[in-house]
Parts: sequence; structure tokens; C-alpha cells
Amino acid sequence: MIKFVYSEEFLKYKEISHPESPERIESIINYLKKKGDFQFVKPSPCNEDDLLLVHTPELIKKVKNNSFFDPDCPNIPNIFHYACLSAGAAIIASEISLEGEIGFSLARPPGHHAGRNNIGGFCYFNNMAIAVKKLLFKNYRVAVLDIDGHHGNGTEEILKGEENVIYVSIHQFPAYPGTGKYSFENCYNFPLPPFSSSKKYLESFDKALEIIKNFSPDIIGISCGFDTYIDDPLLELSLTETDYYVLGKKISSLFKKTFFILEGGYHISKIGNLFYCFISGLLYSSETGVSK
Ligand SMILES: [Zn+2]
Repeated sequence: MIKFVYSEEFLKYKEISHPESPERIESIINYLKKKGDFQFVKPSPCNEDDLLLVHTPELIKKVKNNSFFDPDCPNIPNIFHYACLSAGAAIIASEISLEGEIGFSLARPPGHHAGRNNIGGFCYFNNMAIAVKKLLFKNYRVAVLDIDGHHGNGTEEILKGEENVIYVSIHQFPAYPGTGKYSFENCYNFPLPPFSSSKKYLESFDKALEIIKNFSPDIIGISCGFDTYIDDPLLELSLTETDYYVLGKKISSLFKKTFFILEGGYHISKIGNLFYCFISGLLYSSETGVSK
């Protein structure tokens, strides 16, 4: 059973002509509502102690006071509230998965480019890193798999060298943010040149899953982006609807507690269908009666 962590508040802010738009999530929600009877859970904002697990007090203050300038991260009124709500949704998604179901945070702003002391790439606070830190405090062993088409430089920066966690990312390189070329310590990077085939992507994906299997985590957090799509306006990767179904199925075949956090994906008219293909793959084993 998947529970989607979602609030209509995520649709309430918008910067004209910015690719990270409320229409992205609206498209996913409309598709889910049309396709089936899914459960939705409302998030509440995380608190400042949660933010301090991964961010500096200076960064938190800047976001709170709207005293920052970054061309990719618009200075939206009340962005602190939305960013705390998004991080709160990530935490709830991880708690749902600990209870044995699948938690999927359908929130914005995304988080994987936010570092300890910097915003960037449409991200203000690092939703995944916050959820992971809370799991590490409870002594869980955690693997993060980042399948957004960009490298999650913020998540890597925050989790590198930490005990009991690995960060594994498959992404286009070169591309924004220019990191993720090499693997080191507990960070495993699979850079793919622009226009790599979906076959190449799936080969890297299988290697990434092998690393995760060998690490034997208690729980997996997936930074889930759909900008790996062949017609995504921001990147040049090659995944199709069928590939998203395959990715979902492969993740499901790990039989691990898993939670998901939405990151990027900017093809508004397709993202609903891509998302639905992905969760159909995820639910494959329960549809066919294989126990999870
Ligand atoms: Zn991305």
C-alpha cells in the first residue's frame, strides 16, 4: 500500500515561468485521482531542531527572513513555511515506511541540491538528508538512492563520511550542478553523458542496486525525479514510460522498507503518466500476490 504525503498548500506558491511549478504536482495528483483510490496523508511542518540536524543556523535564518539571493531559488513570500512543510512531508514518508507501508512525499520545494550552508537548484532545505538524519538517530542503517537526473550535491555533502549511511546517485554528467563525477567514501556516483541510452541507464541502475543490496540497509530513501525522461526540458537523458515501470519493479524486488521523496521532473503534460508508470512498477509484486 502506498500512502502519498501531500498538502494543497504545495500548489499555493509560484514564480512566473519558473520550471519548478505547482503544475508539476497538480499533474501527478490529477493522474492519481483519475486512476485509482489512493490514500493521502497531510504533512505538518518540521521544526527548527529538525533543520539544525543538517543545516547551519545562518542558512535557516536567511530562508526564514527571505534574506537570500539565488537566481534558481526565487525569494517567495513565506518560502520558509513551504520548505518546512516539504521537509515535514519527507519525515512522515519515512515514518510510514518504517511501519511497513510505502510513504511517498509529493511535496515542493525539492531538496537534494540544498547543502549545509547553501540553497541552490530550486532547493532550500534538504528534505532527504533531514529524514535520513532522524533515521540514523534511531540507529537505522540507511541507503539513499538518488534517481533524479541531476546529481544531489547537497545530500552528498551532508551525508559524506557519515556512519551507517550510503549515498548512491545516477545522473547526467556534465550537467547542473557539475558534481558527481567520482565515487568516494560512502558516496557512489554513476555519471552518464548526455544522450546516454536507457539501456546504459538501466545498467548503471542495476549496479547501484547491487551496492545497496551489499550494504544491507534497514531502510532505503529514494530521491525520485522524473527529469531523466527523454523529453524533459532540462536534461538530455532517455528514459521512457516503460523504463519508469521497470525502475519501480526493480526497486520493489529489493523487498526493503522504502520511502520516496519527489525531487525534479519538468515535463508538465507527461509527468503524471510517468509517475503512474513508476508506481505501477513499484506495486507490481503486491499485484501479483508476491508478499512484500
Ligand atoms: Zn533534477
